[in-house]
Amino acid sequence: DERTFIMIKPDGVQRGLVGSIISRFENRGYQLIGMKFQLASKQILEKHYEEHINKPFFPSLLNFMLTGPVVPMVWQGKDVVKQGRAMLGQTNPLTSAPGTIRGDFGIVMQKNLVHGSDSVESAKREIAIWFQDSELT
Ligand code: ATP
Repeated sequence: DERTFIMIKPDGVQRGLVGSIISRFENRGYQLIGMKFQLASKQILEKHYEEHINKPFFPSLLNFMLTGPVVPMVWQGKDVVKQGRAMLGQTNPLTSAPGTIRGDFGIVMQKNLVHGSDSVESAKREIAIWFQDSELT
């Protein structure tokens, strides 16, 4: 079955939205097969955001991602990569439709609550960065 990597960012944890975000995936019918709660390291974030390292917003993104614990998760089910992205909304919460996580809970660009893999290939890459096989059910 298809898998995706979803991560609740520090703002989602700080605002007490972990349960609400998990519920949306559970309610949709997806299966949680791996989850952690941790302060991310600079090293793991540089790997995760490899494609953004030279972007102007990278230093600020890195700082933000280090402001508190994150909740990395692996979700499984039919078309979960594409559906997961649709459930998150656009990168900018202000242009995200109501009904999406970002559209319902956010208004600030960087503080967009949650990350989701954008393709099956990136899902595989990201899952391997954050989880060992033995940590997934
Ligand atoms: P994610 O990868 O977190 O799911 P995304 O795919 O919607 O988000 P990306 O373009 O991959 O967005 O950017 C990664 C993250 O970097 C965004 O989620 C956001 O937090 C931050 N970001 C992206 N663009 C900007 C920007 N122009 N200014 C500030 N932060 C940005």
